[in-house]
Amino acid sequence: MKMQAGSNTAIVIGGSIAGLLTARMLAERFDHVTILERDHLPETVENRKGAPQGRHAHALLGRGHQIMEQLYPGLTEALVAQGAALGNGRFYSGGGYFARPQRAAHKLYVSRPCLELAIRSRTLEIANISLIDNCDVLGLTATEDNARITGVRMIRRRPGSAAETLEAALVIDASGRGSRTPVWLESLGYARPPVEIVEVDMGYASRLYERTPEHLDGDLMVNLAPTPDLPIACGMLAQEGNRWLVTLAGYFGNYPPLDEAGFLEFARQLPTQDVYNVISTARPLSEPVAFRFPSNQRRRYEKLEAVPEGLLVIGDALCSFTPIYGQGMSTAAMEVEVLQHCLQEGGVGLAKRFYKQVAKVIDIPWALTVGNDQRLLKTPQPLPKRILGWYIARFQVAARRDPELALAFQKVGNLFAAPTSLLHPRLVWRVFKGTLRRLGGEPSPPPSRVEPATHPTAK
Ligand SMILES: Cc1cc2nc3c(=O)[nH]c(=O)nc-3n(C[C@H](O)[C@H](O)[C@H](O)COP(=O)(O)OP(=O)(O)OC[C@H]3O[C@@H](n4cnc5c(N)ncnc54)[C@H](O)[C@@H]3O)c2cc1C
Repeated sequence: MKMQAGSNTAIVIGGSIAGLLTARMLAERFDHVTILERDHLPETVENRKGAPQGRHAHALLGRGHQIMEQLYPGLTEALVAQGAALGNGRFYSGGGYFARPQRAAHKLYVSRPCLELAIRSRTLEIANISLIDNCDVLGLTATEDNARITGVRMIRRRPGSAAETLEAALVIDASGRGSRTPVWLESLGYARPPVEIVEVDMGYASRLYERTPEHLDGDLMVNLAPTPDLPIACGMLAQEGNRWLVTLAGYFGNYPPLDEAGFLEFARQLPTQDVYNVISTARPLSEPVAFRFPSNQRRRYEKLEAVPEGLLVIGDALCSFTPIYGQGMSTAAMEVEVLQHCLQEGGVGLAKRFYKQVAKVIDIPWALTVGNDQRLLKTPQPLPKRILGWYIARFQVAARRDPELALAFQKVGNLFAAPTSLLHPRLVWRVFKGTLRRLGGEPSPPPSRVEPATHPTAK
């Protein structure tokens, strides 16, 4: 690839999941890649200030897992050797548990800090990648006409440090949702990207519990999706060290309480009692911790008329989703694939090409998340969307008995297939048959999986 004359180096701002995956990919194309990270990055599995989400359930979707395994062959095996679990989970949506597909791939259950450490240590083993942690990136440097970014200004977090300039042919901003690139662009005379916001005012509360083999008959996850009548959710995920991480979530200001009794009561109000039954008897291993998530946020760089060359934005800095759908890390991994493809095409017009292509990739998880959130918000929808919503609701009911429908739904949820795949005539026919069978009075799935519960009202 031909980039700007001069050093063939790249800088990645942010050493979290998006930054690490990006650096790993860039190392194949650049002489040197430097990761700049504000936090001190630990060499053991621990939470850190710059990634407070690490204390909460992190589901790794199939597509993200696949890309990570391609970038770091042997990653899964190594994590399993460290105690991460591979297996099946239970997925509850639209009033019942989905049937279990025979061919469903096992999913990997691992804590976010453990996954991040595994990726980080493998990334930093690569000879032409280096890390400067404990530093703040303060801004960008550019050519005199501001047409090309030439590097960054940064300062080390130690007494007496002065700002330094680091040059690079390509700067990638992977600094997360709070990215300063819009402000930096404005100071260089560019417009800020338009931002799309869909508010959810979500509260998370998470707590670790001891996991024993008899829990859930050995299943490793319970995922309870929200509905318009009950906009609360839960992810109970197995973690390394024989633990459960239980995350309770409430939309629209209905925050799960942090006290013992309130936490348990919120779990009891979920549409099945599986989680409550486990945590009301299991030994807690931590105190509940909270997180507030205001909105889905998508920065539309592809809509800008002018962008400088030599700078790209990736990961949550580009698009951050309501977390209960588990799409952030996997979408970041898919964006890295887009970048790899764009770099293979050459360096000319890279920024415009990247933003255009990455927007198409983000469109799918964005439509899934925002589409569902708008359903919960009861936002009025045009007729085609209402018909689609009606069909998907029937699809979910039929998927409780039909493993093939459940598998098709899982493929979409894991970002392996587009939502339009659910409209395949073969699946439409199965949904129709399933609906007829139900109307004909076929018995419901096992009652233990669809126990009714009192529904709290969201604010
Ligand atoms: C509560 C919660 C739960 C989530 N659950 C899931 C889930 O189940 N599954 C999933 O796939 N995703 C989930 N996500 C999303 C996921 O955490 C992110 O998508 C993922 O971490 C990728 O983000 P990122 O690397 O782009 O940014 P971040 O993870 O936010 O990292 C940005 C990094 O940049 C550093 N930084 C920021 N500014 C500077 C600066 N000026 N100079 C130097 N360094 C800087 C920060 O310290 C940080 O390390 C969740 C998010 C939240 C908030």
